[in-house]
Amino acid sequence: MRIAVFAGDGIGPEVTEQAVRVLQALELPGLELVEGDVGGVAYRKHGHPLPAETLEIARSADAILFGAVGDFSCDHLERHLRPEQAILGLRKELGLFANLRPARVFPGLEDLTTLREEVAATIDLLIVRELNGDVYFGEKGIRTLEDGRRQGWDMMSYAEDEVRRIAHAAFQAAMTRSKKLCSVDKANVLETSQLWRDVVIEVAKEYPEVELSHMYVDNAAMQLVKNPGQFDVIVTGNLFGDILSDQASMCVGSIGLLASASLAEGSYGLYEPIHGSAPDIAGKGLANPMATILSAAMLLRHSLGLEAEAVRIEAAVAKTLADGIKGGDLGGSAGTREIGDAVLARL
Ligand code: ATP
Repeated sequence: MRIAVFAGDGIGPEVTEQAVRVLQALELPGLELVEGDVGGVAYRKHGHPLPAETLEIARSADAILFGAVGDFSCDHLERHLRPEQAILGLRKELGLFANLRPARVFPGLEDLTTLREEVAATIDLLIVRELNGDVYFGEKGIRTLEDGRRQGWDMMSYAEDEVRRIAHAAFQAAMTRSKKLCSVDKANVLETSQLWRDVVIEVAKEYPEVELSHMYVDNAAMQLVKNPGQFDVIVTGNLFGDILSDQASMCVGSIGLLASASLAEGSYGLYEPIHGSAPDIAGKGLANPMATILSAAMLLRHSLGLEAEAVRIEAAVAKTLADGIKGGDLGGSAGTREIGDAVLARL
């Protein structure tokens, strides 16, 4: 079991260090951690945000634990040399096509949500977003019409194999949860969505235990704030998923608690907190490492098949929060290392 650890910039190294301590504390036989440089730090050392050596480490590993990239001092660089290219490059090179974002409200943190507490308390869902297709990657341009008006255009499309593989990822995720999957589209208006829906229905035949439903994206946006407890797993395309996953995250309350996974075909995946490099607090020992620790739990679950260990880490984080140990992002005063120590003690 080889895990590549790419800590990156800003608070990346601080939060990753705590997640690594948690992984090491599990004393998993055969676990090997290999570090690599990504982002601004990699640019300064190797002249590229995703150096060949790092990509090599990624390819030789079973999964990647990723911190954060982003560095203001790189703002003047050409786009392909900016820190953010590290994550885009890894997605492309490793074929990471499914983004998984769990959102749940931890007991004791109900007051952080902008929703009514009793509504927020019901949130325990997973958004599965397709990452490589849709209108983001279609042909696009700005053209001048015959009458002289400028027109922007972007082509939306999904091929059936692209829908099929994300549908499988979502059904498989649903099988590990409460076996309910809601596919979100706009099939009343978009042909792309009609094909999406048809293919998801075909794939559903292979997962008879999973209860499949369909919802239009406008309704899904409304239901996410009205009655979020109705959802278990949501699967959707790149554009709708971009918006809904941020919406679901913020219903929960804090950025320092939210983990994510980007999966390739098979069990390979990259796991990272949804927050960025947070340059405003970097190096001060203030960052909440819980999102990265929870990302490590997702890594154990999805790439290494270690469900029991993943649950153990999640329970230790929940207990830490329930005991009132909170970072500044949650209105508490615990520092990065203190939170790491507290999670370890409860593990
Ligand atoms: P990016 O564009 O990379 O997402 P950003 O600046 O928009 O960067 P973040 O880096 O995630 O977003 O930071 C947003 C705010 O949240 C900042 O004020 C930051 O200090 C805070 N923040 C982010 N992550 C954490 C964390 N783990 N613990 C505490 N505060 C955090």
